[in-house]
Amino acid sequence: MLIEVIDAPDGKKTFHWQTNVSTNIYGIALNIAPYVLIESEYESVNGTMIPVVFYAIEDHEEMARELFDREMHKTIEFFERVVGPYPWGQEKIGIAETPHLGMEHQTINAYGNEFKRDDYGFDWLLHHEFAHEWFGNLVSSRNYADLWIHEGLGAYMQVVYTQEVMGDAAAHHRLYNTYLRIDPCQPVAPRGEFSDDQMYAEGTGPGRNIFAKGSFALHSLKYVLGDDRFWDVIRVLAYDTTEPEKLKAPIQARFRTTDDFVKIVSDIAGTDMDWFIEVYFRSTQVPELTSKQDGADVVLKWITDDALLFDMPVPVRIHGSIERIEFVDKTARLEDTQLSDIQIDPNLQILRKLSSMPTCEEKKAEAESSQAST
Ligand SMILES: [Zn+2]
Repeated sequence: MLIEVIDAPDGKKTFHWQTNVSTNIYGIALNIAPYVLIESEYESVNGTMIPVVFYAIEDHEEMARELFDREMHKTIEFFERVVGPYPWGQEKIGIAETPHLGMEHQTINAYGNEFKRDDYGFDWLLHHEFAHEWFGNLVSSRNYADLWIHEGLGAYMQVVYTQEVMGDAAAHHRLYNTYLRIDPCQPVAPRGEFSDDQMYAEGTGPGRNIFAKGSFALHSLKYVLGDDRFWDVIRVLAYDTTEPEKLKAPIQARFRTTDDFVKIVSDIAGTDMDWFIEVYFRSTQVPELTSKQDGADVVLKWITDDALLFDMPVPVRIHGSIERIEFVDKTARLEDTQLSDIQIDPNLQILRKLSSMPTCEEKKAEAESSQAST
């Protein structure tokens, strides 16, 4: 919060800023520039009136106002509706324009996406950094190994928003692009202690999997749990309650781990969900689903690297209608069915190895040959 500006006789100014909320320590920065201030006020779901500020570079004022009017309130309204109240309502909602792409500085995100709308009709960067006010700043990972809590959830919010503003086809397109970025050689959340550099490293660390595989695994979790229970998981993770709209500022920030997530998912599902997290988040494998004709029946079987339980249900279109097929011992039998009658997972809800995903060995060979040729 800007408390006061003190004018000195030599024309210099002293700006006195203060914050009273628990603050994500990797996200503190000073941005100093010839800014113009664009302002409004937003009424939170919990009734708090929140100042909204955009510090834009003077030369960009017109574009900044256009973005501000088009997306600021709409974006916050989305997050408040699907997740819960903006966490720092007693201070402000803010953005400052920067020469770099962006960063989740609490209550004043860095913005450098040049006011572009992406293929899905909105400014993904603005949306992504706002997602971090919830996933990153309200709920922070205790260890960098759990960074998917920031980036996987942060990135998944753009998929959910795409579905809302552009419909199913665009959301499927965004999800499939997410799928194509998955690194088959890396996990999402390795066990142990890691630095942020190790976690973001492409090739030697989880890299893009924190975003892409984390985000896609969350989409599959939404299928398993159903929408209501999925969003309850997200709310309990972030606020420790399924009714966060009842919380008033100040809202408590908290640390969470992947193990906390397993416990929350299992509690809300009413069954142990460790198998899901173990395969999709902890291990590097992407499970494969095989299908074969067995007499009059079709047999579906999950192939995973080890002896882990993996009874992941799958939507299957059979003669035009989509059914949820449950598995026992990684196997499901569709009686009196021909392979030609079915289509597995027609809406891309299940994270599994498709023919477009290279094996880890293929990916490594590809990386070596592209290195050799450059
Ligand atoms: Zn991010």
